[in-house]
Amino acid sequence: MQLSRLAQVSQRVAETRKRNQKLDLLASVLAEAGDRELEVAVPWLAGVTLPARVDADQTSGKLGVGPKLLFEQGAVPPASQSQLSLLDVDQRLDQLRDLQGKGSSNIRAKMLGELFASCTAEEQRFLRGLISGELRQGALESLVVDALARSAKLEPSVVRRAQMLLGDLRQLARLTREGEAALRAVQIQLYRPVLPMLASPAENASVALGHLGEALLEWKLDGARVQVHKRGDDVRIYSRLLNEVTDALPEVVSQARALPAHELVLDGEAIAMRKDGTPLPFQVTMKRFGRKRADPRLTETLPLSSFFFDCLYADGSLLDAPTSERVNALRELIPESNRVPSTQTTDPRVAGDFLRRALEAGHEGVMAKSLDATYEAGRRGQSWLKLKQAHTLDLLVLAAEWGSGRRKGWLSNLHLGAVDPSSGQPVMLGKTFKGLSDRLLKWQTEALLAREIDRDRHTVYVRPELVVEIAFSDVQRSPQYPAGLALRFARVKRYREDKPPTEADTLDRVRALAPDI
Ligand code: AMP
Repeated sequence: MQLSRLAQVSQRVAETRKRNQKLDLLASVLAEAGDRELEVAVPWLAGVTLPARVDADQTSGKLGVGPKLLFEQGAVPPASQSQLSLLDVDQRLDQLRDLQGKGSSNIRAKMLGELFASCTAEEQRFLRGLISGELRQGALESLVVDALARSAKLEPSVVRRAQMLLGDLRQLARLTREGEAALRAVQIQLYRPVLPMLASPAENASVALGHLGEALLEWKLDGARVQVHKRGDDVRIYSRLLNEVTDALPEVVSQARALPAHELVLDGEAIAMRKDGTPLPFQVTMKRFGRKRADPRLTETLPLSSFFFDCLYADGSLLDAPTSERVNALRELIPESNRVPSTQTTDPRVAGDFLRRALEAGHEGVMAKSLDATYEAGRRGQSWLKLKQAHTLDLLVLAAEWGSGRRKGWLSNLHLGAVDPSSGQPVMLGKTFKGLSDRLLKWQTEALLAREIDRDRHTVYVRPELVVEIAFSDVQRSPQYPAGLALRFARVKRYREDKPPTEADTLDRVRALAPDI
């Protein structure tokens, strides 16, 4: 395969916005590639160059081509005809990687100049993007992984899972050519962290249990996610984003060292607690992260406790085992004091009580987990559901939409807002038709029509005079609403006829509930 073919496809992928077309373009070029070519094409199309040698580590794998040297190649006149094969260029990049010591920068500049002089203008553009890392935007890696699956006629989930565990596109390409069994055989390895499994929000315990059936419930601690890898005394800790944080967390390292099991990968939460065992706020725990080395003063004043909730490896991978089996392994290997409190139930009332106790103990809420789900690394699916305490706000009703079905003829879906103190104007934060009894529907229809200022086909707009108490689970980012914020799972608790609109909650209060947005 010629370099020009890849450069051309990369350009066409950049030009189309449709994911499916991108996938087709990528899959067809990958299907054309020979086995060794595929190992080069897959990472390049994802915007990375990887050394051919498997043993090359990150530093020795560097090309050593900085922005200035790359910029200088802009002056190299392009070749009129394409002449380079993919494998040729790959080999030349490997030679650049091998350059070391005195005089190597001159040789590197010369070699790079020769390479660029052999490229057409289109190939030069591609190589420049590749070397500078500019090709690597957006979800390019996941796109190429899916295209690889398409080109090999495999389920995307099989290839994605292997990439999650390997973290190496070159190796992924090789195994894909070997076939599905080779991909499925890839397992989690010690000291190669996997992206943590994530949770989706659920409205309440009944909804969660309705979806999961019998579920494992665990306290949800508001600390920092840690993935602990241990072989004997060699303990390394990774953050949620897979950065290594071992040196910043000496006490978590000692806690893990003290565990009797030999080889382990654990998923859990590290959290700073008060002396009485209640949790400190998330921001306090985070003071211990984000620094390369532990600050001894902070380690003393803000010691972290670790609580584990999953076991991904115990003398062998458990990723594909159901939750019940992974949690049994956890119970056998980890003392109770290092586990999150948990229970198992089908009963929403039991779940409600468990949630109440977690909240009373100062924690964020509860996780409800499917007992038979495997560990879906990196995925935010429906196998883990998070339940939090409902917040309430007193908001203004800005408008209401006519109901349909049983609610036809009543004003039902309320547009909710809060005043922005900087402009004095109300801004909309969401809608809800939940929590309204027939009596309230009737009352609000009359009360709103009495305040009508405008209407269109579906909606009646009103003077913002009515205050309604709204329960909701979270404030989330929203591109749709004017303040960039929206309420999740909002429901009406009651009208606050005792409150004038001037006493309704303002946008500042809403913002305070979402400090990270
Ligand atoms: P959120 O960040 O709100 O999406 O919630 C997910 C996070 O909750 C995870 O990434 C963990 O850091 C944290 N967490 C706390 N307790 C648990 C638990 N028992 N199971 C899973 N995650 C938990």
